[in-house]
Amino acid sequence: MLDPILPADADHAVYKTLLESTKAIPWKIDWKSMTFAYIGPQIEPLLGWTQQSWISANDWAERIHEEDRERVVNFCIAQSQCGIDHEADYRALTKNGDYVWIRDVVHVMRDANGETEALVGFMFDISERKKTEEQLLALQRQLEEYSYKDGLTGINNRRMFDSILDIEWGNAQRTRRPLSLILLDIDYFKQFNDHYGHIRGDDCLKRIGQTLQSAAARPRDCVARFGGEEFVLVLPETDGESAQKIAERCRKLVRKEQIAHEQSNVAQLVTVSLGVGTIIPEAHDTPLAFIEAVDRLLYQAKQQGRDRLQYGHCGGGEADACQA
Ligand code: GH3
Ligand code: MG
Ligand code: MG
Repeated sequence: MLDPILPADADHAVYKTLLESTKAIPWKIDWKSMTFAYIGPQIEPLLGWTQQSWISANDWAERIHEEDRERVVNFCIAQSQCGIDHEADYRALTKNGDYVWIRDVVHVMRDANGETEALVGFMFDISERKKTEEQLLALQRQLEEYSYKDGLTGINNRRMFDSILDIEWGNAQRTRRPLSLILLDIDYFKQFNDHYGHIRGDDCLKRIGQTLQSAAARPRDCVARFGGEEFVLVLPETDGESAQKIAERCRKLVRKEQIAHEQSNVAQLVTVSLGVGTIIPEAHDTPLAFIEAVDRLLYQAKQQGRDRLQYGHCGGGEADACQA
């Protein structure tokens, strides 16, 4: 084809064979005319476009994915004008409409006056590397997600709950809007496990986790597994009255699941007890003291017969300042 890169001397044939048998695709562009002086025959098996179809630099630009084109073309022109060797990664269009990730490595050739005369370079097929990079990224995203999800129930885990409570605690302090917390514990769950076995116990936890997720509807509400057979709901900008309604909805939704529990002293079904606390945090209140206060409310609900909720207005700097 067109002018070869190499001079026509005795070694020409050897170099040409070498260039055209590597996996990297050699090319040369004449800077003044912006036309291809050469492109290796390996381009056709890779992209489908024939060697002869690479005429002007425009053919190259048009065969770059449109999301990469402007960035790559502008960068390459700017670097070439300054006479700087460079490289760029982009998706090259194939003749059948797919894309192949290419790394183009460019050397700027200058004349005796230092003016840019031509560009020579190699295109490398980096699809495999990109695929690996994308897989690693997807894996990383999945790991991040897993680190905030409870493995059994698929809902938020304790770590997520801790982070969210911290954030919402700060918000409530700033806005002086009430923050509510519901702690929920399955009644007589030890007997459930003893009677039905751990596998059925795990299934029960999964069902309750999923059920509770449908009980709180606002985007900032957070439902999480607190640990063992205990769940927690963080309800920002929610006063005591609304929190009690949501807690009652949780209690009823769990009953509606009608999970048999022959050994329960409350019903023949799985039931839950709930502690419900609301706070507008003052400077001396802490999230931990709030959780402990709501846990005591939950304990009271257990003491009073289970399958019920106990509400209290919390805060005031005393760990036990929840007014039932
Ligand atoms: P109460 O009504 O007072 O809450 O009684 P309880 O039996 O529910 O309370 P207790 O704390 O004595 O027992 C909790 C049980 O929850 C014991 C434990 O084996 C079970 N449990 C905790 N985590 C899991 C889990 O991941 N899977 C299963 N299957 N059981 C669990
Ligand atoms: Mg418990
Ligand atoms: Mg329990």
